Amino acid sequence: MKYCEKCGNELLDEAVICPKCGCAVRYEKPQRAGESFARINVCALVGFILSLVSVISVFNVLGFLAIAGFVNSVIGLVNCTKKKQRGKGFAIAGIVVGVIFGVIGFFAWIKFISGGGTWLSLLILWLV
Ligand SMILES: [Zn+2]
Repeated sequence: MKYCEKCGNELLDEAVICPKCGCAVRYEKPQRAGESFARINVCALVGFILSLVSVISVFNVLGFLAIAGFVNSVIGLVNCTKKKQRGKGFAIAGIVVGVIFGVIGFFAWIKFISGGGTWLSLLILWLV
């Protein structure tokens, strides 16, 4: 339920003119909350999630997930800036986490090749 700004008369939600005073009722977009949610950049969010998953994922021994997260986050950040979308925080967090765990994953992979360790020993090394 809304009210006329001019005379305070009770109005129907879909009313465009107040029936009492004839004053035009200010129209408000009803789906504002949904719109702002949709404007969050998908790439930024995906990049952030990928980077986050790479932290806890065993597959990060290859660093691939972190790299994928990093790349998505960079694209997300660029798109956020270009299209003025939300999600910059996610993108920046995704880049930072992606870089750190991409590097760790890369060195873990190098160590795995040169050291001849098994996947299991690498996993233990990773978790400790
Ligand atoms: Zn009115």
